[in-house]
Amino acid sequence: MLYNRSPWTISDLCDVQGTPRFIADSMLGKLVKWLRVLGIDVVYERLIEDQELVHRARAENRWLLTRDRRLVQRRWSGTTRFILVEKDDWPSQLRQVLRYLKPPRTCDILTRCVRCNEYLKFIPRKVAANSVPPYVFNTQRRFVQCPGCERIYWRGTHPKQIIKRLRDLITQPHSPRKKTGSD
Ligand SMILES: [Zn+2]
Repeated sequence: MLYNRSPWTISDLCDVQGTPRFIADSMLGKLVKWLRVLGIDVVYERLIEDQELVHRARAENRWLLTRDRRLVQRRWSGTTRFILVEKDDWPSQLRQVLRYLKPPRTCDILTRCVRCNEYLKFIPRKVAANSVPPYVFNTQRRFVQCPGCERIYWRGTHPKQIIKRLRDLITQPHSPRKKTGSD
């Protein structure tokens, strides 16, 4: 999906091949949601043992995102690549993680289900007809669906708000006293 208002400049729309994939601990739910909004592959399970977290990070070649300093100091986690997330609030967490990544591509935004991490797939309009409110169906042209949870997404006005919020967040990283969000 492409949007008219990009949070980044054209020169930022570069190749992002090599973008790390992640697995996050259970304390990072909001960060995971926003990374997925940017199209970044993040595995997240609320109930997962530390050892399993590290095992999956290694087996699937993912970076471990964690708030748990003790976890990354344990001997059996020594060979796992990780980012020790420093702050409790998701805007600070997102800024920290984005320092490790190339600028997100606008065309990757909102291409992944925020609940399941699956890539969204375009579906014919008629398939969406029985699953979305009539007003939405009559005012939206394109619909995408998650192959995991089957949730249907549409562009609407919400993505524009998301993009604006992320743009403000990412382009104004040096104003720690400014409240950037309530959730
Ligand atoms: Zn889903």
